[in-house]
Amino acid sequence: MYKLPVLMYHSVLLNKADRGKHNIYVTKGALEKQFSYLKKKGYETITFKDIYEKEITDFKKKIILTFDDGYEDNYTLLFPLLKKFNFTAVIFLVTRETYNKWGTEQGEPKKNLMTKEQILEMDRFGIEFGGHTCHHPELNKMPIEVVFDEVRNCKEDIENLLNKKAISFAYPFGGLNDQVKEAVKNSGFHYGISTKSGPIEFNEDPYRIRRIEIATRTTLWGFKRKVSGNYLTKKYILF
Ligand SMILES: [Zn+2]
Repeated sequence: MYKLPVLMYHSVLLNKADRGKHNIYVTKGALEKQFSYLKKKGYETITFKDIYEKEITDFKKKIILTFDDGYEDNYTLLFPLLKKFNFTAVIFLVTRETYNKWGTEQGEPKKNLMTKEQILEMDRFGIEFGGHTCHHPELNKMPIEVVFDEVRNCKEDIENLLNKKAISFAYPFGGLNDQVKEAVKNSGFHYGISTKSGPIEFNEDPYRIRRIEIATRTTLWGFKRKVSGNYLTKKYILF
């Protein structure tokens, strides 16, 4: 049975040397090979908005590409590739920081986030922008008032900028619990996107959507397996 692959990316780099210690970034070269493969195999990239508005239930050969944090390189390096392949993507924005402050605190290299003008230009091309809080805290460790502020204000920031509804939200660090899920739902988001936790069926829990990570180490062979639609099986799911 085909499972909708929801891929998780972060920053896109020109050189592997800039990859940082967590190895969660991909090079533009690797990404281009991955996109070529998807194109050749006839995959259609979709967004959460597509699923919600068009009520898509048949996910065969469909895929969602997501990028967390809203790095400037998503504009300078990813956007040209999306245009080249005529692909869409979902980018989750941290709305009240100008660089990855939370990452530099953990020893990651400093990276700028996209400007408003860059976001608006990608929005016009059809990229979906979702929420990722205002400051990137671990929501499951925060008092509930902070959770609500971070989630609601972030939604408002995006909607004020784009003049359209933000319907998807990705939990920073994948940090979620029932209270956090409830806050995301009550704030008006239709989808809560996790990292590597959640059921393997897309529709089973819309507030805990599992993703498949594509990182520095992912080979093209590994990528093919990950997008095959049967990568997630009970065997791999521990929680
Ligand atoms: Zn993040």
